Order: sequence, then C-alpha cells, then structure tokens
Amino acid sequence: MGIATHAKYFAPPAIDAAGRRNLIGLSQDELLEAITALGLEKFRAKQLWSWIYFHGVTDFENMTTLAKPVREKLAAHFMLERPTVTQDQKSEDGTRKWLLKMVDGQEIEAVHIPEIDRGALCVSSQVGCTLTCRFCHTGTQRLVRNLEASEIVMQVMLARDKLKEWPSTKDDRLLSNIVLMGMGEPLFNYENVAKAAKIIMNGDGIAISKRKITLSTSGVVPMIERCGNELDINLAVSLHAVTDELRDQIVPINRMYPIKELLKACREYPGISNARRVTFEYVMLKDVNDSPVDAKHLVKLLRGIPAKINLIPFNPWPGAPFECSDWKTIQKFGDIVNEAGYASPVRMPRGRDIMAACGQLKSQSIRLSSAERAAIDKIIAEKELSQGLEISRA
Ligand code: SF4
Repeated sequence: MGIATHAKYFAPPAIDAAGRRNLIGLSQDELLEAITALGLEKFRAKQLWSWIYFHGVTDFENMTTLAKPVREKLAAHFMLERPTVTQDQKSEDGTRKWLLKMVDGQEIEAVHIPEIDRGALCVSSQVGCTLTCRFCHTGTQRLVRNLEASEIVMQVMLARDKLKEWPSTKDDRLLSNIVLMGMGEPLFNYENVAKAAKIIMNGDGIAISKRKITLSTSGVVPMIERCGNELDINLAVSLHAVTDELRDQIVPINRMYPIKELLKACREYPGISNARRVTFEYVMLKDVNDSPVDAKHLVKLLRGIPAKINLIPFNPWPGAPFECSDWKTIQKFGDIVNEAGYASPVRMPRGRDIMAACGQLKSQSIRLSSAERAAIDKIIAEKELSQGLEISRA
C-alpha cells in the first residue's frame, strides 16, 4: 500500500538533545543490539525488557537489580520517554481521553473505556487519516504522518501509568483489551502497528494476549490476510453500508476495495471460527443506512461469515452531516439481525461529553503543508489511475 508507508512522513528519530535514544518501541533483537553495542552483557537486555515492559519503570535509577555503574551507563545513553499529556479528560461515565504530544509536537488521542472489572484502550495509529469516512471526525483531519511503533506502544504504557497497573501481573486490570480503533487506518501503517502489537503481546512484558487485541480497518483488503497470518489478532471491519453505492459515499475506500472483495477477505481471515468472529461495525445514520431493508440485506451479505455486528449509534461532532437514528429504529434493525442468528449488541455511546466516543477523535496537530499534501494527493491519484478509480477527499 503506497499511501501511508511513505518515508517522508515518518516521525523524527527519538533522540534527545544530549543524543540519548529512547528505548521504548525497540524489538527484543533491537534492544539486544543496543545493549551489546554499549559493551554490556547480553543478559542485560532481558533484564531491561522486564524493567521497561513488565514493571513499567521510567527511570533507570529504579532498576534495582542492575549495578549502579550499569544504571549510570544506561542513563547516559538512553531514555525511557513517555509522550507529554497535554490534556487529561474524564467523562461522567468514567471514559478517559488523553491528548498526547509526540516529540515533534504532533498530537494524538487515546481513550480508555472502563467496565467494572476490565476495560479497553482505544489506540491511535496515525496523526490524522488519509481516508475521509463521512461520519468520522478524524476523517476531517488530513493525514499528518504515521505513528512509529514506539508511539503506539507508549499510548498503552501511559495508560498503564495513569491507571497504576504496573507490574503486568496485576489481576482485574482496567486495561485488559486493546482496540486499534483510534485515529488513523492501522493497515495503512502496518509495519509499525505490527511491531507495536508484538511488543504489547510479549508475555515477558506488557503481556496483553492476542485474543484481547482487535484491529479495526475501514477495508484495506490486500493487508487483511497478512495481518491475520502474522499477528493472529481479532479483526473488526467498519462496514456501515450494505450497497457499494452508499459505501462509496460514506466509506470512500470502498471505491478501491468494494464490499464483495472486503467480505471475501473477511471470510478467509486466518483463524476465523465461531469462537473467533469478525466484528462488523455499523454506525446507525438516520434515514441513510438504518431501514429494515438494510438490515435484511446485511444479514444476507454476511451469510457464512462467523460474525458479530456492533450497532453504533452515531456520535455527533461539530459540522457532522448526519444525525443518529432514533432508538426504535436501532432496536428494530437489531431485532432483524438478531433473529438471523447474529449477535448484534448496540454499543452504548461512551465519553460523548468529552468528544471521546467512536468517530469523534480529532487532534489539533498541524496540517500538512500544501506541498506535502500535493505529494500525498499525487500518490493517491496515481493509485486511482492504475485502478480506474476516483476517491473523493475533503
Ligand atoms: S473511520 Fe477510521 S479510517 Fe475512516 S476516517 Fe475515521 S479514522 Fe480514518
């Protein structure tokens, strides 16, 4: 996928003014390399991994199993940075949203949605988004850049700091699940997302299992199988419409990868079974996609796919071109889907009062310069040309 792996939009290297490198986000092999390059013994890498990702320490001084000279050497060459929290908002329903500033000043949002004895962290994968899903606030903020693996992992680590959930052995964690459903299309930043997911899943560190991680895509069909094969995490798909005619309008990537191709990729998702279903997200838009005919069509489309359908009451944002379907309509839609044998929970809006609900995220990061935007537009146009397509953009 050419659009988002463009090197020009990578983050600046995570090195501070003193030349110290941030260790967060390095794979185990990279950490080993960094340690041995410093003349330290190999086994230190394992110790460090545990202090960083299992205990969550942010200061080498607190790594008490390391001798003082080793701690000093590490502190002279490395750092364990977290992003700066520029805003920490708590909703009346307990949902918490953090606005996080990266080293280059770009901002992203991460949202924690607590339940009684667990909770999910909604993680961002890009600053802004190239796609312009019409119901989504992030889609009005153009892509600034991809997030590095470190910046994805740091969202999880910061949430754990705030929730006081170190070390990783703690039972009844409030951060039990990860959903890659924040700002950006994760499959347009696959390499960094995959590297981050492997760090988060590692059993000697943060240890959130692959069964508790869900990647949500708007439908980047060519990357779906690879994601399943390499990461074996849960798949969610932003479907939102049952005809190409409508989906072309509200989820414009559909013009590149139409519903039939998307559902084929879902049907063939590695590891899919009745015990491990694909989640289809369906936002309820008044008089747009919410009729009983739409519900019946949805059931027909998904036939044969082990699936769960999340009905999402539309979460408004300033200037949004839609309204939320009324409750009776949502219930009727859900009943039809349920009667066909699909679980179709209505995802109750969380964090609406702090603009943290699904589809409401948007940071104030600097937009691309016109020259940079023109470069991205050119890439997209070339892609469209090669496929005879035209994707609408804001
Ligand atoms: S729904 Fe996801 S892919 Fe679509 S514009 Fe919003 S962030 Fe981007």
